[in-house]
Amino acid sequence: MALQGVDALLLSVGADLPYFCGYQAVPLERLTMLVAPQNGPAKLIVPILEAPRVVEHPEMFTVLPWSDGQDPVALAAGLLGGAKKIAVGDQMWAGFLVDLIALFPAAEFCRASEITAPIRMVKDAAEIAVLRKAGAAVDRIIADLQAGLMPLVGRTEGEVASEIAQRIRDEGHYKANFTIVASGPNAASPHHDPGKRVIQYGENVLFDIGGTMFGPDGVGYCSDITRCVHIGAPPAEFAELYAVLHASHAAGVAAATVGTPCQDVDAAARKVIEDAGMGEFFIHRTGHGIGVEAHEHPNMVAGNLLPLEVGHAFSVEPGIYVPGKWGARLEDILVATPDGPDAMNLVDHHLAVVEG
Ligand code: ZN
Ligand code: ZN
Ligand code: ZN
Repeated sequence: MALQGVDALLLSVGADLPYFCGYQAVPLERLTMLVAPQNGPAKLIVPILEAPRVVEHPEMFTVLPWSDGQDPVALAAGLLGGAKKIAVGDQMWAGFLVDLIALFPAAEFCRASEITAPIRMVKDAAEIAVLRKAGAAVDRIIADLQAGLMPLVGRTEGEVASEIAQRIRDEGHYKANFTIVASGPNAASPHHDPGKRVIQYGENVLFDIGGTMFGPDGVGYCSDITRCVHIGAPPAEFAELYAVLHASHAAGVAAATVGTPCQDVDAAARKVIEDAGMGEFFIHRTGHGIGVEAHEHPNMVAGNLLPLEVGHAFSVEPGIYVPGKWGARLEDILVATPDGPDAMNLVDHHLAVVEG
């Protein structure tokens, strides 16, 4: 904060608050806000009915409860003194920011992530241990899918997705965050919402699944993996597409060494797909950071010059999506180490072929 001339940091809804305080704000219309001045004690403004859920850390912050009928923004403003530059949590409700701007018309506002992201991006050993444990948990589910142990043909994507969500919890996560089950042409939509479509023999099914597992101090860390399973032998054209994808993924992983700019990881994975003439079908960045949020900094994306640092945790997940026809993606979570990328997901990368 001192380096960036920020007088006060305001954290509300979002992952910064639990990362630093161990408390997750309920995303309600009632304001929860940590007011952390650059100099001076931090206070957590919290609706009085939520206060029993806060575990106090007096060495870090004290709790300031407010009751319905009080104005919590005025309460926060009273703690801000003559702050000239105020950093606000990126996911704080816009309504509260609008109110703050009205109260501090001369102040400069910036994103809290300018301060918090560099800290959150670099994972310590305890955080990496949870990422590894969460990665191994989703690996086990994927291994069962690859072995044909979960029936697919004749079931809807939604049914399979609910079964996977249950498995994500059974394997040690406290919640499932997403269970993308995209069959046949639906896999051409990267974030397909599994629904009523019945999975057919002869199709590819894309699974992108993840959950949150409790880590140090009760703060949750995420898993995220994508694999494809073909029901019956794949047509030669799809096998070829998958071979390109597999090579792209390997190139992205190989590029992910400490000191390499994030955008070079994207470029390495993208080049393989472009060289195969499929560049137009790779419609997203190669990867995203992961930690307390499923998507956080740093992104493996064109324009991100940030060099990879020891402890950065991120995905490498190229995809090839042919609209109306089919799609495939291959995703692992990696942690940058001096010896190269350390994979949190170790389950087989080939296109699995199952019989049902
Ligand atoms: Zn995604
Ligand atoms: Zn991902
Ligand atoms: Zn994913």
